[in-house]
Amino acid sequence: MSVPSTARVVIIGGGVVGVSTLYHLAKAGWKDCVLLEKNELTAGSTWHAAGNCPNFSTSYAVMNMQRYGLKLYRGLADEVDYPINYHVTGAVRLAHSQERMMEFEHVASMARHQGLQMDICTPEELQQHFPFMELHDLEGGLWDPLDGDIDPAQVTQAMAKGARAHGGNILRFTPATGVSRDNGEWVVHTEKGDIRCEYVVNAAGYYAARVGEWFLPYGGRSVPQAVMSHQYFLTESIPEVEAWTKANGRKLPMVRDVDTSYYLRQDTTGFNLGPYERNCQAAWVNPNDPMPEDFSFQLYPDDLDRLEWYIMDAIERVPLLGTQGVSRNINGPIPYAPDGLPMIGPMPGVPNAFEAHSFTFGIAQGGGAGKVASEWIMHGQTEWDMWAVDPRRYTDYTDRDYNVSKALEVYGHEYAMHFPHHEWPAGRNRKLSPNDDKIRSLGGQMGSYNGWERANWFAKAGDDTSEESTQTWARSGPWEQRIREECEAVRDGVGVLDLPGFSRFALSGEGAAEWLRGKVAGSLPKAGRMTLGYFPDSDGRVLTEMSIIRHDEDDFTLITAAVAQWHDFEVLQSDLPEGLSLSDRTAEVSTLVVTGPKSRDLLAQLSEADLGAGWLTHQKAVVASKDVMLVRVSFAGELGWEIHAAMDDVAEIYAAVLEAGATPFGMYALNSMRIEKGYRSWKGDLSLDYSLLESGLERFVKLDKPQEFPGKQALKAEQERGAAKGFVTLIVDAGDYDAPYMSVLWSGDRMVGEVTSGAWGHRVNASIALGVVKSEFTKPGTEFDVEIYGRRYKARVQENTVLWDPENKRISA
Ligand SMILES: Cc1cc2nc3c(=O)[nH]c(=O)nc-3n(C[C@H](O)[C@H](O)[C@H](O)COP(=O)(O)OP(=O)(O)OC[C@H]3O[C@@H](n4cnc5c(N)ncnc54)[C@H](O)[C@@H]3O)c2cc1C
Repeated sequence: MSVPSTARVVIIGGGVVGVSTLYHLAKAGWKDCVLLEKNELTAGSTWHAAGNCPNFSTSYAVMNMQRYGLKLYRGLADEVDYPINYHVTGAVRLAHSQERMMEFEHVASMARHQGLQMDICTPEELQQHFPFMELHDLEGGLWDPLDGDIDPAQVTQAMAKGARAHGGNILRFTPATGVSRDNGEWVVHTEKGDIRCEYVVNAAGYYAARVGEWFLPYGGRSVPQAVMSHQYFLTESIPEVEAWTKANGRKLPMVRDVDTSYYLRQDTTGFNLGPYERNCQAAWVNPNDPMPEDFSFQLYPDDLDRLEWYIMDAIERVPLLGTQGVSRNINGPIPYAPDGLPMIGPMPGVPNAFEAHSFTFGIAQGGGAGKVASEWIMHGQTEWDMWAVDPRRYTDYTDRDYNVSKALEVYGHEYAMHFPHHEWPAGRNRKLSPNDDKIRSLGGQMGSYNGWERANWFAKAGDDTSEESTQTWARSGPWEQRIREECEAVRDGVGVLDLPGFSRFALSGEGAAEWLRGKVAGSLPKAGRMTLGYFPDSDGRVLTEMSIIRHDEDDFTLITAAVAQWHDFEVLQSDLPEGLSLSDRTAEVSTLVVTGPKSRDLLAQLSEADLGAGWLTHQKAVVASKDVMLVRVSFAGELGWEIHAAMDDVAEIYAAVLEAGATPFGMYALNSMRIEKGYRSWKGDLSLDYSLLESGLERFVKLDKPQEFPGKQALKAEQERGAAKGFVTLIVDAGDYDAPYMSVLWSGDRMVGEVTSGAWGHRVNASIALGVVKSEFTKPGTEFDVEIYGRRYKARVQENTVLWDPENKRISA
């Protein structure tokens, strides 16, 4: 079959994800879209997948995607008239510890927030669901009634049928061989001819890194992906299983022993066991073992030895498993991004190109992924905040070694709990501050922020700094007292925080100010001053926040969160007019935060700068004999300055500031102090799930300004009808745990909102939560219950969203 010469969208890859993307585009009326598959549909990872489909995810965004996708699958066979073997069996997840039970409680609560039901179970209740299970070592577990397994090929073919019915064009046995760009359009090359198109999607599964290379000449980056070998095996028929199914008229539910790290499910009348083993194996990593040009419908050789420990453990749990031999083993390639979450969204640095690849649970997520990818393509934005899977979350610090070491780590800990004070050890030290050695010598316990190492807290001699000590959801731990001390040092004296990797862009050129006014909802600062700028999307939701520092009429520095680097650069670059200059200066300049009531006295020893200049001013200055920009601002909410200096100079300045008596503090203390000031965190409190008005940012919204910034009309309409939700600061009568992201807020039996971030405020001595609630619940004094890891605690709406120094006397001293 020949290829069409033009299309609106070309999708490269016909696995479950590419096909779902085409289905969603076609269903939404985008008919002129083509999918290229080099072999038969499903030839990559899809055909051999086990097809397990949970709703469960510890990520709210991913759960949302799975929830949507599984609902789609439940109706798909009828919708498109294509039979699908989909067994909604339910699943039990086993917990071997209290910490795991708490994780389950939090996920069950998020699930309820999304309208799903998941039940917390005792060991005996687990056994009622799955009678062939032994109960040793169990604390309890979770029942997910909508878990199940689907035939991966059938669900893909069903979506393909649906896509074709709506006008989508699928070309099988048509490999894409490259891309080029001509006249602002993409040309996708195949052996059968070229297709000129507006948008292109890399949905090539474990070949995505290879396809990604084609985009390098057009601003692209190497795709951060590694391929792992993943196995499951099937047993011979087990008479007891067969008898149970006959007696009950259904399959057994699935068992996920997440602490041991495997799933076990019924397959016909035997079992399917799939471990995620610690001693796992990456594939195609050695130069003498390159990824073949074509691996369609192929598998790796069996390697059951690797699974032995898991098999033995599973047999102790379900002795029936040991009664029959293995009938078949499947060992296939599975792609991993460094955090194990997929990549769905804009291809970093490349215009009109999108990604939908690196799925470790692509069958469960494929339905939702197609929705998300198609929204990106059609609307340039998504219904839900999908930062968790946005490809721009990884920037230039990934390389092959990093990708492989993270893939091994994530796969080997596929079901691991992600504790709030734990930092994963693989792939570290990608970017080091010039102060790194000094900070570690002072006891710095480091965390990774967009590849940059920063101190989270400073340990003292004798403190337990082991990884084991961080395996807790609790506030307390070796860090707690140190964070308190760091906060007190900043409150009473002066502290210094080394902040490399603060994302920093230079914007200039005639008309820069006017253009920026058309991007932000509020006003720009005068030259010599700075302000926070909020960038709405076209629906008036919070796309991002940047600090806008104005040097001159049309000369700006824009500063944003470390991890926002590529995202925010693209927010600016996407429609930058000709004549304006935009550059990323993150690697050239670093920042020190010097803050606390004695910060002025300290800086006066090191600088002749005008330290009387007011809050939110900035100036060129010399500090410790080095040229710097001094900005009068402090995210800690004390008198303070940020010192912005050349990377080469920052070590000498840091040494001088320490020498002058500043106490080093870390990111955990900063987080405690920022929440006391009601300062928002990026992608926690500030996300596309809320409008600017819902986020309590009215004072940064100027609806009467002449510029037609994105979302202005939406915000006007919202203001007229009144925002449905409002932003609140809560004090929580918390026990040992501060409220994690997406803790549900209850008024009696009614869910009225959720927490967007929570932490202990050491200066106000209280557990603080920021959150968004239905607007009738925003009144100061309103009481809720906040559900934290399954227990409800009283929380009260505060009079002022700022709890520490609400009159800003300290910062303006
Ligand atoms: C053993 C095993 C068990 C699994 N079990 C589960 C499970 O139970 N549940 C679950 O959710 N997930 C499971 N997975 C993961 C799941 O298989 C993948 O996440 C999913 O199939 C990914 O789908 P995809 O469309 O992204 O990629 P793929 O299915 O790999 O599709 C990519 C397609 O792109 C095509 N392609 C590549 N290059 C080109 C080119 N140049 N031109 C045209 N076409 C190209 C390939 O031929 C391929 O068909 C399992 C994986 C393995 C290995």
